[in-house]
Amino acid sequence: MKTEKFNLENSVEKSLSAALNTRRFPHAVIYEGSTAEERMALAMKTAAALVCSGGGEVPCFACANCRKAAADSHADILVYSVEDKPKAFKVDIIREIRAKAYIVPNEADRKVFILENAHTMGVEGQNAILKVLEEPPQYVNFILLCSSKSGFLPTVLSRAAVYNLGQASSQGADIPRETVVETATKIALASAAMNDFEIVKAAGAFEKDRLLLQAVLPVIQEIYAAALRIKYYAEEENSEFGEAARTLAHKLSRNALLALIESTDSLMESARLNANHNLLVTAVCTKLRRAAVN
Ligand SMILES: [Zn+2]
Repeated sequence: MKTEKFNLENSVEKSLSAALNTRRFPHAVIYEGSTAEERMALAMKTAAALVCSGGGEVPCFACANCRKAAADSHADILVYSVEDKPKAFKVDIIREIRAKAYIVPNEADRKVFILENAHTMGVEGQNAILKVLEEPPQYVNFILLCSSKSGFLPTVLSRAAVYNLGQASSQGADIPRETVVETATKIALASAAMNDFEIVKAAGAFEKDRLLLQAVLPVIQEIYAAALRIKYYAEEENSEFGEAARTLAHKLSRNALLALIESTDSLMESARLNANHNLLVTAVCTKLRRAAVN
């Protein structure tokens, strides 16, 4: 593994680094998008930061834990890799992971499980992993890697913080993160407003901007998932859209939030299939408004 620290120029890495250094890192995260190599590199860097005992900024790459992590030989960083094909992540492997999760770490304070191609778990597998995601031992972290989170059940998504590493191609990469988050927040809040005008107004940002819509949809879904976590588990939410998530958790029912997560899934699928842009913008308004009244 390359011994590189987090790249603070990159918004996702910056937010990961901040969460790790303030010891507020979620016990389960999903890294989606980009390439398999990039996802694994980021997961290994995160794992090093989690086991780091350097005492300063993590990962330090100087302490014994970091050095072992960099040499891929840390006993408390467990990597499970399967091929990217349906149901490759077998229930047996998940049962093994669950059993190991309940054994305290060997050397570090934490134990980190990295699951590559985690989206290839079938429904049975996802329900099996859900049990440990819901009540993980305090010292455990899970890092689930996948090309797209769309293969996960909403229940699994509700237990993990999703980080989108962007597209492997350069498409859409030049839209500033602030713009994406700001637009996503507006849409998410407007979907819960009691009149249709709010969302139509907010969706005006997408007129003639297909790339913005593609970049914003996954973030809208993250906001709904964060709201669901607050509602289900009364979790603190310290992300960049924590305030919007709290507002939605207060305004909407669990069923509405689940329906909104599912609707965003189908909108992302339409966007991926290059549906007619104007119809897609209309669908964003109608589908989200309809889901919100569940
Ligand atoms: Zn260290």
